[in-house]
Amino acid sequence: MPPLDADRLRQFLEFYQDLGVKSLYRRGSAAPPEAAAPVETAPLQVVRPPVQPPPVMELPPLAPSGDTLLKIIEDLGDCRRCRLHEGRNKIVFGVGNESSPLVFVGEGPGADEDEQGIPFVGRAGQLLTQMIENTARKEGIPLKREDVYICNVVKCRPPGNRTPEPDEMEICGEFLYRQLSAIKPKAVCALGGTAARAVTGHKEGVTKMRGKWFKWREIPVMVTYHPSYLLRPYNESAKREAWEDLKKILHFVYD
Ligand code: URA
Repeated sequence: MPPLDADRLRQFLEFYQDLGVKSLYRRGSAAPPEAAAPVETAPLQVVRPPVQPPPVMELPPLAPSGDTLLKIIEDLGDCRRCRLHEGRNKIVFGVGNESSPLVFVGEGPGADEDEQGIPFVGRAGQLLTQMIENTARKEGIPLKREDVYICNVVKCRPPGNRTPEPDEMEICGEFLYRQLSAIKPKAVCALGGTAARAVTGHKEGVTKMRGKWFKWREIPVMVTYHPSYLLRPYNESAKREAWEDLKKILHFVYD
């Protein structure tokens, strides 16, 4: 691996921070210099070991070079890295256009998704599809659900649809970050608080974050309400806001 420049090193450190890694250690640091032995025949001359160049910091790449969604699925395998695997039927990796300029990120699979292995296919999923397609049509943007990419922060259904635990999000987050790095979309839409926190690192509630732009690496991220929240009665104003958010992101990506 070539020596790291400051920019690349910063990217590595941010990546590890996103994964929750707090400390990094240098591999292959130079061993402490041996005690210098005085030379008997020349008492004033001290033999010093040759000066070593500082070791090149070697870290595994941000994402394996030439990473693809296929490689990520292969690495995920029959994942048992966290407790969520215990209750799952199917891993729900992601669906849609692998070179989409727009990626939607939800929280985690529900019962329908767990059964079919496809994200957002239940009631919330149907609403998401309508939101994408109807908003695009009204805005004169020819866009279907299959044109975008849709995935979740965690790939296995949390029991009883509970919110994923921080350690589950951290473990699975590696695969989400690799998905985003491989797709390199023009923008990401985080659906609901869990996705917003996982992708932006911000801790505010979704009501505060929605409609605003954040960043994941250099990629703009728009936060909006989760479709499940919009399915609840009496959320008419939230629905209107979500439509506004979606219009903003669609025009940003497709204009
Ligand atoms: N809710 C999510 O967050 N993701 C899905 O895939 C389905 C429902």
